[in-house]
Amino acid sequence: MQNYSLAQHKEQSKLKSKENQVFFKLLKKKNSKVLDKLIHPLHEEVFECTDCLECANCCKTTGPLFTDKDISRIAKYLKIKPSRFTEKYLRIDEDRDYVLQTLPCVFLGEDNYCSIYNVRPKACKEFPHTDRIKQYQLLKLTEKNIEVCPAVFSIIERLKGTLRT
Ligand code: SF4
Ligand code: SF4
Repeated sequence: MQNYSLAQHKEQSKLKSKENQVFFKLLKKKNSKVLDKLIHPLHEEVFECTDCLECANCCKTTGPLFTDKDISRIAKYLKIKPSRFTEKYLRIDEDRDYVLQTLPCVFLGEDNYCSIYNVRPKACKEFPHTDRIKQYQLLKLTEKNIEVCPAVFSIIERLKGTLRT
């Protein structure tokens, strides 16, 4: 994929926002199994040439949800009590989920490495979810993630190309 300029990416995804709204409406009408077959190879293709260490925009601008399992695993790794971890780093959002108190993520280094990589939240591991089954259930999220993730932007642009041919 191209060299990342996150400012450029933000600008580009804004420009595409109307076009994408129309495109996602069309996608919602597609057969659910067809969508997985179309999106999964594009995910592989795009991530083969994506270096997340040059980007880290997800860690800088959105951050994950933390499940109870995530909290106990990370707290254990940091050798603190889960309640201390929650108090120090997390807050409860409007959907009653645990999320980070501040962004960029406190565990993101200046070199874009994650200091808790091996025990990071499941949501970080799975982001941007374009290789998960039942893509039709994730269309709203994927459309939202276009703005966050240059790889999702490319996957969707390639998908438009595939469906045109
Ligand atoms: S925003 Fe996308 S491309 Fe950037 S680091 Fe996250 S997953 Fe990788
Ligand atoms: S925990 Fe790690 S992978 Fe997850 S948002 Fe923070 S820095 Fe990124």
